Amino acid sequence: MKVLVINTGSSSLKYQLIDMTNESVLAKGVCDRIGLEHSFLKHSKVGSDTVVIEKDLYNHKIAVQEVLSALTDSKTGVIKSMDEISAVGHRIVHGGEKFKESVIIDKKVMDAVKECIELAPLHNPSNIVGIEACQQIMPNIPMVAVFDTAFHQTMPSQAYIYALPYELYEKYRLRKYGFHGTSHKYVAYRAAEMLGKPIEELKLVTCHLGNGASVCAVKNGKSIETSMGFTPLQGLCMGTRSGSIDPDIISFLMKKEKMTISDISDFLNKKSGVLGVSGVSSDFRDVQAAAEAGNDRAMLALDIFCYRVKRFIGDYIGLMNGADAVIFTAGIGENNGLIREKVVSDMDFLGIKIDPEKNTVIGKEIDISAADAKVKTLVVPTNEELAIARETIKLLK
Ligand code: AMP
Repeated sequence: MKVLVINTGSSSLKYQLIDMTNESVLAKGVCDRIGLEHSFLKHSKVGSDTVVIEKDLYNHKIAVQEVLSALTDSKTGVIKSMDEISAVGHRIVHGGEKFKESVIIDKKVMDAVKECIELAPLHNPSNIVGIEACQQIMPNIPMVAVFDTAFHQTMPSQAYIYALPYELYEKYRLRKYGFHGTSHKYVAYRAAEMLGKPIEELKLVTCHLGNGASVCAVKNGKSIETSMGFTPLQGLCMGTRSGSIDPDIISFLMKKEKMTISDISDFLNKKSGVLGVSGVSSDFRDVQAAAEAGNDRAMLALDIFCYRVKRFIGDYIGLMNGADAVIFTAGIGENNGLIREKVVSDMDFLGIKIDPEKNTVIGKEIDISAADAKVKTLVVPTNEELAIARETIKLLK
């Protein structure tokens, strides 16, 4: 069975075709600048060079058509016709309270996903466009929706209700949702396999540290708390996002800097975080290079980032009354040993201790704990596409 995984953004469409008989990726790529000038498709067939096809991708439907052409082409292709695709799995950012797990897409599901637009106005519309484009081109192929928020729907109400007048929750479903759920779930389950224990018996803290970053407390296989909130702005300091701040800073800035609501949203989401503090970049490689060259603000940005992750780990271990493992994943978590070391340094009181030599490993699944650590520290590369493909197959069965 072959599953096509689709992740649509406002002007991009990422895809992977996965053979689920052995979970191998056959081809992957991205359509970029959809609806803009100089749009293109970057396609890689496994074992061959990446090709860049410049094409006018006026909309997502044309992009999907181009993806299917690349997948079935005699040179770049890996299948003879689209009939070989058993199902399409779509990543959807926000499922609100309506979706606690992945679902097969039908008209009712589409209506419910549309109702979640007000919760994720920047993301759900693109996801919907991606599904509709696929439905038009592949009307007979089943489609599955996998939600970033679904894994966190197990949080108890004391975790997800904000201390605001309760009527606002009733009126607008204003509450913590959490994101990166597919990734947190994938690495938690993989960590259980590495530890050789049933997930139902484990307390895990998963740290998804990429350009967007969040931490999750996974108790007995369920998310009980996570750092992102009503939107992906809450929680950790991120590449360009401030994470949690004193809410009154907003009215202060609006007065002093004459900022509008949309200025504030732009400022907190795109100009803050590691970029805002360092003034260098949102990319940790650049910030780290600047810090090593003696740039104090770059060093401060890295310190703030690590300090916040450390605080969440301590918080969640407290909440769960212990932990079996702390797991690092995503671009920074998988590849940056320095950040991992700074995050878990001086946590031996809690039983967390890493082996500095093992911690030099980059981008690989590994247990980096010291021999005498009571709480394991694991690096588990995330694979959201495979997780989506697995959910898709599970539902079809
Ligand atoms: P993500 O959003 O998961 O793609 O992560 C992006 C972040 O991961 C950026 O800040 C990068 O600097 C960092 N990153 C990605 N790959 C590497 C790598 N090979 N070595 C160090 N940092 C990396």
